[in-house]
Amino acid sequence: MKRTIIAGAGPVGCVAALALARAGMPVVLLEAEAELPIDLRGSTFHPPTLDMLDELGVADKLIATGLICPVWQHRDRAAGVVAEWDLSLLKDDTGHPYRLQAEQYKLTRIIAEELKRFPHASLRYRTRAAAVRQDADGVDVTVETPDGQETLRGAYLIAADGASSVIRRAVGIEFPGLTFPELWLCASTPYEFARHFDNLAPIAYVADPEEWFVFVKVPGLWRLLLPTAPGETADDIVQRPYVQMRMQRVCATGRDYELGHVTAYAVHQRVATHYRKGRILLAGDAAHINNPLGGMGMNGGIHDAVNLAEKLCGVMRGELDERALDRYDAQRRPIAIEYVQAATLRNKAILEEKDPKVRRARQDELTRAASDPKKAREFLLQSSMIRAVQRAATLA
Ligand SMILES: Cc1cc2nc3c(=O)[nH]c(=O)nc-3n(C[C@H](O)[C@H](O)[C@H](O)COP(=O)(O)OP(=O)(O)OC[C@H]3O[C@@H](n4cnc5c(N)ncnc54)[C@H](O)[C@@H]3O)c2cc1C
Repeated sequence: MKRTIIAGAGPVGCVAALALARAGMPVVLLEAEAELPIDLRGSTFHPPTLDMLDELGVADKLIATGLICPVWQHRDRAAGVVAEWDLSLLKDDTGHPYRLQAEQYKLTRIIAEELKRFPHASLRYRTRAAAVRQDADGVDVTVETPDGQETLRGAYLIAADGASSVIRRAVGIEFPGLTFPELWLCASTPYEFARHFDNLAPIAYVADPEEWFVFVKVPGLWRLLLPTAPGETADDIVQRPYVQMRMQRVCATGRDYELGHVTAYAVHQRVATHYRKGRILLAGDAAHINNPLGGMGMNGGIHDAVNLAEKLCGVMRGELDERALDRYDAQRRPIAIEYVQAATLRNKAILEEKDPKVRRARQDELTRAASDPKKAREFLLQSSMIRAVQRAATLA
């Protein structure tokens, strides 16, 4: 059986590698860095993702590292709680009726360990995919390593090499969309915000016409996500006095916050024009990126990885013909556009709405939905991405 090469050991590349390895498929996972990056971006795992990770035998280990959050909130900075969403309403729809808060690097580490069990799987560090060529039988991936260049031969290449994907560029797939003019600031602190905000859930989206923000708890830390002003640079916004000033505006404590990580992010909404070019397949951020409101980028990428691995297994076993790989594109690309892009833009609009009437109308709608179990369940099926996975299964 010929091997699959995967570029990028982020959460998406790792999940694809594990799914292939467990199915007995030879796989080599390439990571440009010397070790798995300690990446603090993603921290929310939604129920269907946890169900998939369970099938792959790693959910329990991940859950043990995180916070189980059955409830999350929409809040208004002035008025307090607008809507509280209780995921236990999904107990008949998923084995994991909660959001798990665990940093994404915890998943990649668990999977890297797990891959060691499979002699037909390997993870190569300091190995950067730089170029690719393909022919009727396979792909040749040129990699850069500390010992120089090398060419690796495989049957297929999965490009899970993130938003700036070298592979996507190398094969000339466009990545249209937009980049927001403002950077977003993410800062973490052990300070207990629940002392100041009544009934604060571990995940809370706080609307404000001037300065919205998001609270997200991970074990031992609160993370704050804040937009900055267009023109403020990454250098400006990670300076400690600026970060302290922004955090005091969120919650005035009168003394400096103890800070953990502080990071500036450019935020985009983009979807690749194709997910497949012959034997080369894009997945995760290489294929689609979106703003983090709702926690859908990594989750959607993991759903790509599971969908694609299943099809590649079928093709390599001779049970499916290559059209199955077109179905991967046909099932996953519309989800990124119609579902993830739409939902994350809507989430942003809810938080930043400046018109008081529109803001009030949207918030009233959320309050009504949260207090009606039928509407609340439907809202949760959407926001937890269960509907997105169901919809993908019905496509082409
Ligand atoms: C502030 C913030 C918060 C977020 N929160 C969430 C959340 O809660 N939930 C959620 O679902 N999503 C969230 N996201 C999005 C999430 O972080 C990404 O969608 C996710 O990291 C995508 O995973 P990936 O594996 O596709 O790519 P990446 O995580 O970017 O991983 C790519 C990997 O490939 C490696 N690499 C790059 N180039 C090469 C190469 N040429 N050869 C070999 N290796 C290479 C990199 O070193 C890296 O390890 C958030 C994003 C931000 C900015």
